[in-house]
Amino acid sequence: MSSTELGPLDPKERECQKAGFELIARTLASARTIAICAHTSPDGDALGSQLAMVELVETLWPDAEVSALLADEQPAPHIYSFLPGFDRLMQPSTYDKDPDVFVALDLSDPRRLNKARTICERAGKVVVIDHHPPAEGFGDAKVVRTEAAAVGVIAAEFALYLGAELTPTMSQNLMCAIVTDTGRFQYQNANGEAFQVASLLVDHGASPSEISLNVYESFGLAFLHLKSLVLGRITTFEHGRIAYSYATQSDFDRTGANLDECDGLIDAVRSVEGSEVALFLKAVPGGKVRGNLRSKGPVDVSSVACSLGGGGHKAAAGFTFEGSVDEALVSVLPALRAILHEDENGDTEGIQ
Ligand code: 5GP
Ligand code: MN
Repeated sequence: MSSTELGPLDPKERECQKAGFELIARTLASARTIAICAHTSPDGDALGSQLAMVELVETLWPDAEVSALLADEQPAPHIYSFLPGFDRLMQPSTYDKDPDVFVALDLSDPRRLNKARTICERAGKVVVIDHHPPAEGFGDAKVVRTEAAAVGVIAAEFALYLGAELTPTMSQNLMCAIVTDTGRFQYQNANGEAFQVASLLVDHGASPSEISLNVYESFGLAFLHLKSLVLGRITTFEHGRIAYSYATQSDFDRTGANLDECDGLIDAVRSVEGSEVALFLKAVPGGKVRGNLRSKGPVDVSSVACSLGGGGHKAAAGFTFEGSVDEALVSVLPALRAILHEDENGDTEGIQ
């Protein structure tokens, strides 16, 4: 298979993606000002896809003014500062234009644009590239494929579709997107397409070892001390099928750990032998709690996240809860127990 043939295996999906790419390219070609933005609390897929798209769009349409917008006023997590172009990321309050085109990456719900949402609303056209279950009516030109392991996969295929050169910097950003969203190629979403695109990116200069060093092997002591507290209080119930843990404000105060360093703690919780569903809660400013949910099997955790005003994928979802960690546990744990049993009932019906 030649590199330009990468993409979804299903011929219908392939055609649909091509049509989406064509419309996105035409939309971008007609723009003079383009703002490219990903979701609030950006992760490796959000930032990697965003920075790669900024480079791609600037290369292909050099007359356009391209801005790399953050959804939040806070700086992006420091662990991603090695990504090429990281210094270009700008706070939404510093952007005062009405862009001709706003490109939204790695989100299906405009609320996930946080402070950049008003900029999106002021834009002439909205382009969406995403892999979450789609929301009706968001985006004038889009490619949304839920089986794509990362937006980075789709962005790489967009570059190939346009016949653009995959530069080493673009490849590194896209590789970071894929490595992080597949949990280093270990989650259920790590499909053949993800490996194929990753292989191509490495051939074009991406460095998996640099990504690993920065994202997974450069933790401060404060974070490791927090992690030891979180590990020490992992609890299981429902015969070990549900595992959870949490970090409170006093844990952060005691250890001095940074909130934005905590993305990987859910992976420690999900590593419990025999667990099918994992929950990690952390206290965040404003009397709120951020929740990460993961499923290692068929259970769909996105329904619980949605019922709490959040969202995500079947196997990885998140939400923000107004209240304390204790209050969040009281709401979320019964909901997790219920979906475990719903799934069992569903299975029994399916067997008839
Ligand atoms: P994480 O738990 O790593 O923050 O997120 C897991 C997945 O769920 C990601 O795909 C992320 O985009 C999505 N997600 C996390 N939090 C929210 C949320 O509050 N709302 C929505 N719609 N999606 C979320
Ligand atoms: Mn993603």
